[in-house]
Amino acid sequence: MSGLTGSVLMGSRNVVRFALLCKSAPARSFSVTSCRKQNEIGFIGLGNMGAHMARNLVKKNMKVTVFDLNEESVKSLVDSGASSASSAAEIAEKNKLIVTMLPSSPNVRNVYLGKNGILSTVQKDTLLLDSSTIDPAVSREIEKEAALLGAVYMDTPVSGGTVAARDGLLTFMVGGKKFDDAKKVLELMGKNIINCGPVGTGQAAKICNNMLLAVSMIGAAEAINLGLRLGIEPKLLTKIINMSSGRCWSTEIYNPCPGVIMGIPSSNNYQGGFGTELMAKDLGLAQTAATGSQTPTPMASLSHQLYRLMCNSGYAKKDFSSVFQFLQEMEAKQK
Ligand code: NAD
Repeated sequence: MSGLTGSVLMGSRNVVRFALLCKSAPARSFSVTSCRKQNEIGFIGLGNMGAHMARNLVKKNMKVTVFDLNEESVKSLVDSGASSASSAAEIAEKNKLIVTMLPSSPNVRNVYLGKNGILSTVQKDTLLLDSSTIDPAVSREIEKEAALLGAVYMDTPVSGGTVAARDGLLTFMVGGKKFDDAKKVLELMGKNIINCGPVGTGQAAKICNNMLLAVSMIGAAEAINLGLRLGIEPKLLTKIINMSSGRCWSTEIYNPCPGVIMGIPSSNNYQGGFGTELMAKDLGLAQTAATGSQTPTPMASLSHQLYRLMCNSGYAKKDFSSVFQFLQEMEAKQK
């Protein structure tokens, strides 16, 4: 996108701010750490993942200001010691370090580029870390718009799920220019902080990982369900698989069959965790990327259709491991 088009998209308020910045800031390289208060951080998006991440920042003695459309989520974080803001714009007015954890590309575009969005008030030298899983092209678009205002946007999607988010053990896949600065912040919420390259490459790594996860979860659900039909108890079958070549994260850590592992969504009626609609969204991103790069991904394509079917059958908000329950429901309908 050209600078001019970007300015039109940003709206008149930002065009004026951009002009003022250009006047007052001579061309020089800036440091995002130069005038940022190191212990103040804004956090937007307090869902299944973001609430845990923001809470970990509070626990690490950061002064956290939060915003979410869901008032209950905000209240819960305020009860844990955070302050609240009434919009993304207010977060950006008050903080030069901001983390966002939102569902998908349209939400992220809205929170950054929308009317009361971050870029409507962002301060120069702000470091913007977006941990949502979104289209790499949207990450690159926002980076350009942020740079026009003297801020640095980086894509920092995560893997690890809600348990790792709660325990501060996330893996962050980082794309963008200020890796060392980003790492200092992300270490407060995660264990592995990986430099993937320029903006968008964090998302690329994340999309490939989730594509594989989608396929392996369906495989795990199919195998354990078949085992049940053949008279093998799921816990025993899981134990054998985890000693054998079928072992994977979906059998060992996040088993889709209720009762095999306690404390994960499958043993809690598939509540919490990683929603089926989010997995369908990630597979959509993978399919777009695969089509664009002419890469064959037949298993992922099939998985995408299956998760979309689940979304249309009442499973959208359940954890994606509910594919096990979905298969059993299909089986019951056949009888
Ligand atoms: P979620 O749907 O539980 O939470 C998203 C939060 O964003 C909600 O609280 C929602 O109210 C808020 N929100 C949406 N639009 C907003 C706006 N305009 N302004 C302010 N708040 C807004 O999602 P999640 O499970 O926390 O996932 C967040 C991101 O992390 C997604 O991109 C997902 O793909 C990715 N992710 C999730 C998991 C997981 O296990 N849940 C794991 C890895 C990555």
